[in-house]
Amino acid sequence: MPKFEYAPAPESRAVVDLQSSYGLFINGEFVDGSGASFKSISPATEEVLAEVSVASDADVDAAVKAARTAYTRVWSRMSGADRGKYLYRIARILQERAREFAVLESLDNGKPIKESRDVDIPLAAAHFFYNAGWADKLGYAALPGGANPQPHGVVGQIIPWNFPMLMLSWKIAPALATGNTVVLKPAETTPLTALLFAEVCQQADLPPGVVNIVTGAGPTGQAIVDHPGIDKLAFTGSTGVGKMIARAISGTRKKATLELGGKAANIVFDDAPIDQAVEGIVRGIFFNQGHVCCAGSRLLVQETIAEEVESRLKRRLETLRVGDPLDKNTDVGAINSKAQLDRIIALTDVGEAEGAERWDNGCELPSKGFWFRPTVFTGVSQTHRIAQEEVFGPVLSVLTFRTPQEAVAKANNTPYGLSAGIWTEKGSRILWMADQLKAGVVWANTFNQFDPTSPFGGYKESGYGREGGRHGLEPYVKGTH
Ligand code: NAP
Ligand code: MG
Repeated sequence: MPKFEYAPAPESRAVVDLQSSYGLFINGEFVDGSGASFKSISPATEEVLAEVSVASDADVDAAVKAARTAYTRVWSRMSGADRGKYLYRIARILQERAREFAVLESLDNGKPIKESRDVDIPLAAAHFFYNAGWADKLGYAALPGGANPQPHGVVGQIIPWNFPMLMLSWKIAPALATGNTVVLKPAETTPLTALLFAEVCQQADLPPGVVNIVTGAGPTGQAIVDHPGIDKLAFTGSTGVGKMIARAISGTRKKATLELGGKAANIVFDDAPIDQAVEGIVRGIFFNQGHVCCAGSRLLVQETIAEEVESRLKRRLETLRVGDPLDKNTDVGAINSKAQLDRIIALTDVGEAEGAERWDNGCELPSKGFWFRPTVFTGVSQTHRIAQEEVFGPVLSVLTFRTPQEAVAKANNTPYGLSAGIWTEKGSRILWMADQLKAGVVWANTFNQFDPTSPFGGYKESGYGREGGRHGLEPYVKGTH
């Protein structure tokens, strides 16, 4: 099949004013960390973007103290309407500076500019708008505490690298709307948009100490988890670290919400519109290089149409453009880090060794940076590790089923339970399936749709608590997790 050639369409990076080094954001100011520093690189080119401070235990302590002071003296005394004004202001600034945020996100994370521009940053702003609207209406949100819900106090928040700004907004917006103050740690490989967000807090005149950003790796996260001044933790990341956090806080007064991994089934019935389903499969697993907790990484396709779906899917994947994240035509960007690339390589090698049939789209890859071709495994059985473990990359495992009951049994045969997709023209089947599937989010005839008004979260080892919607306010008021 002839393929279209695209001329380069690079987004300019001139809009981003990168500093050579960044400190920590504590009490409204950038301060040098007392630990060493680390480099954040662009995974597409391995270019060093900036040096970033590591927050030591003492720095985390200073951040928690600043958050406590801001909480008792300012934020907890402010009316909801006034807190809302700050959140609206932040939301508007994020919209005004959206291009800058999108370019920086693509540089630091490796994701395609069309995703950071059209999904990550607009949604991040939308979460601030949405939660701003709740700030003066919390008494009507049916929260614990009824007409007068009470914040926890100081919240520690730890986020991963796959949607840096979006995860920041999921965490900070509801925490602030409900009257808490925060200490947030972004992931080690993607700290830069969180630091730009710190500038936005300054620009919005947010009272010092309401938001504190501490950068660093696992030990900085651990220092937040262990700090006695933290009232509540909100964590998004791997199930392994989530379990460690749950163990660390057991027996303490700290509350926690955990948003962890997933291994979602995307289920296609023989009456589904196949071309739309193929687009949904692509969106489900190749969006954001497959670095998505709710990715549709297991395709369950009804046996009678399996061959046709596989061949149409492969033809479609051959048209995906893999490369420069800042090119507006790029569909699949860089793998976020060398470590993640190594994990994807190791697990896909296991897939092959266990007997699944491996296919990739054969595209050319840039010579520098971290890349992985869109890959499909067919002939996968439920016991294969690629059907059980999260690859967290652009890798799809295809399994087949014959009956709806078998589809449900296979879909639920996972320790996770974050999301699922159903493709069929029968509404009654959608409702029956959605009822049977142990997944926090079930999409019907679509996949990977996100909206700030809609709660998101998991069952089983995908964690507990919800983010987004009215439900997303609950974990931030007393009387809950
Ligand atoms: P991760 O290793 O668990 O890291 C998540 C965050 O925790 C990072 O900021 C990390 O710091 C920090 N961290 C690492 N060790 C820690 C410790 N001992 N104590 C406290 N914090 C610690 O996960 P990841 O590899 O970055 O992210 C991928 C995982 O996140 C996947 O499993 C994915 O499914 C999950 N995820 C879930 C959701 C959801 O909403 N359910 C959303 C996105 C991602 P450093 O990165 O600096 O080391
Ligand atoms: Mg980076």
